[in-house]
Amino acid sequence: MIKPEEALKIILDEVRLQPVEKVNLMDSLGYVLAEDVVSDMNIPPFDNSAMDGFAIIASDTVGASKESPCKLKVLGDLKAGDVSDFQVTSGSALKIMTGAPVPQGADSVVKKEDTSLNNEEVLIYCEAKKGDNVRLTGEDVTEGEKVFPCGLDIRPQEIGLLASLGKSELKIFKPPTIAIISTGDELVEINEPLAPGKIRNSNTYSLTAQVISCGAKPVPLEVARDNMDATRKLIEKGLNISDILLTTGGVSMGDYDVVKDVLTGLGAELKFWKVAQKPGMPLAFWRLGDKLIFGLPGNPVSTVVCFEEYVRPAILKMMGKNHIFRPEVDAIFEHDLKKKPGRAFFVRVNVRRKNGEFYVSLTGPQGSGILKSMSLANGIAVIPAETTLVKTGDKVKVHLINLPEDH
Ligand code: AMP
Ligand code: MG
Repeated sequence: MIKPEEALKIILDEVRLQPVEKVNLMDSLGYVLAEDVVSDMNIPPFDNSAMDGFAIIASDTVGASKESPCKLKVLGDLKAGDVSDFQVTSGSALKIMTGAPVPQGADSVVKKEDTSLNNEEVLIYCEAKKGDNVRLTGEDVTEGEKVFPCGLDIRPQEIGLLASLGKSELKIFKPPTIAIISTGDELVEINEPLAPGKIRNSNTYSLTAQVISCGAKPVPLEVARDNMDATRKLIEKGLNISDILLTTGGVSMGDYDVVKDVLTGLGAELKFWKVAQKPGMPLAFWRLGDKLIFGLPGNPVSTVVCFEEYVRPAILKMMGKNHIFRPEVDAIFEHDLKKKPGRAFFVRVNVRRKNGEFYVSLTGPQGSGILKSMSLANGIAVIPAETTLVKTGDKVKVHLINLPEDH
């Protein structure tokens, strides 16, 4: 048996960055940029008005106030999207809307609220300074500037700027395809009636959801029955269509646990089997050519926790993400918990924050088949292998699946 941190290291050392793929702008959201984005233009592309008001020459307004406004002749008006050949000269102004190009000669814009318009004349009630309410060419982005570096996470904030730059297509690290195979003679599909001795296949659904949450592409396959032939056929199918294959169940000591034998028969290289942890001890990991294979234990919580702790970081690393781990915080444990030494415990907890400190409580029974306490958890507390007792008030490390609320 190896330690969880050794297992994680072995996995991450096997991970290769995904190939680059060109996608439409909106399909890049949530992925990692695989090119430097250099601007071939200025943003804004022209000096334009930041306000609805009047484009003027600032020096015309020296001494202007509410009591003694300055009076300027209005040459016409200009809306956003139009261009003008108006020339603003001393004593004149052009009515202008937000976003319209500042006309020749003008050096500032006075907002409408500081003016009043009488036919062809406008009264200006304040002194303007050169540059007031003018958005200068290139003040956001200059031509030739490297706006985004390769490796950046593309969030909604980036999308708008990429759109302004005219990047209708861009390169990302291709999201990996993850084939998912549950194994077990006892499994029935979720729309089928339960016969005696049978349970519903939940792992395929948990894993599909977890893969989607990572931004990767799940391909859930049929359930493999507990025999070599059926399992081999599905595993071969899964390997053909995926970058990573996930199996659940069939990797323990049971008479019908055939996943390991099938993969050995296919020539996969076993990197490890069994990790000193609870839940998820029988976790296995192989490489076959350029494919990675995770043999996740069948118990529903073992599957979810092993995905969280091992598969998710691997997928995110393949996608070029910089932050591949959940945020880890130190939290105050609110129970006494005894355990045997030798295996790390991944404990399902509720994390809350009070006066700047994190507190954690168990979400319920911790059996590896009990999904309800997984569902109630927003974190996984990691109790080290050698620890035999955690007391109320002790600090523990917690991986935050969701950010806790303040209570
Ligand atoms: P195994 O590792 O195949 O011995 O499975 C361990 C436990 O997990 C057994 O109780 C199985 O019935 C259960 N199990 C295995 N696969 C699934 C699945 N896809 N959905 C729900 N439970 C499962
Ligand atoms: Mg089984």
